[in-house]
Amino acid sequence: MNLILIGAPGSGKGTQSRLLIDKYNFVQLSTGDVLRAAISAKSDVGMTAKCYMDQGKLVPDDVMIALVEDYMSKQSGKSVIFDGFPRTVAQAESLDSMLKKNAARIDHIVYFKINPQILVKRLTGRRTCSQCGEIYHVETKPSSKGHLCEKCGGSLTQRADDKEEVIGERLAQFEKNTGPTIEFYRGQKRLVEVDSMQEPEVVFKQIEKVLDLAN
Ligand SMILES: [Zn+2]
Repeated sequence: MNLILIGAPGSGKGTQSRLLIDKYNFVQLSTGDVLRAAISAKSDVGMTAKCYMDQGKLVPDDVMIALVEDYMSKQSGKSVIFDGFPRTVAQAESLDSMLKKNAARIDHIVYFKINPQILVKRLTGRRTCSQCGEIYHVETKPSSKGHLCEKCGGSLTQRADDKEEVIGERLAQFEKNTGPTIEFYRGQKRLVEVDSMQEPEVVFKQIEKVLDLAN
């Protein structure tokens, strides 16, 4: 089963992705990780991507799709969660045809619906472990160790882009960049919306139901 998770920054998408990976047999595909892996493996397509990046250029869609294809072929049938990809309608279309060629498909596209006011509150309170990346919240999920991570003792910091003045801009960017992709999937009646303003456990139950994993 392959999934695409789409959600604005702070929509809880990352948390839900982790929950799916912990409970079920998913691997997460983020384009950053795929790029880094291909470059360190010095694969042909990885080197092509590196050429563009070294010149400060965006990696073109066809190269990105080739990287994704390569990555998926190495997951030996594991379920993949796409996070932050596809970013554009063109990428969405290329992804569909690449999967089709490999007799695979995207089974579910989950969109994390948000309320912007609640989201701002959620984001400004967020603290991230500087070592392991664990996410806390000053109100809803404080660390029992204060300013340190419960898991690894790393210091908790507020990411620069979780600061209030930056958030409005990030939401506008998300809307601008991802809006057309959301409409593309909605038009194909493939988009399933979950209300991500609820507690993470409740959101997770909604997702399990969508994926037909709930008992
Ligand atoms: Zn930590």
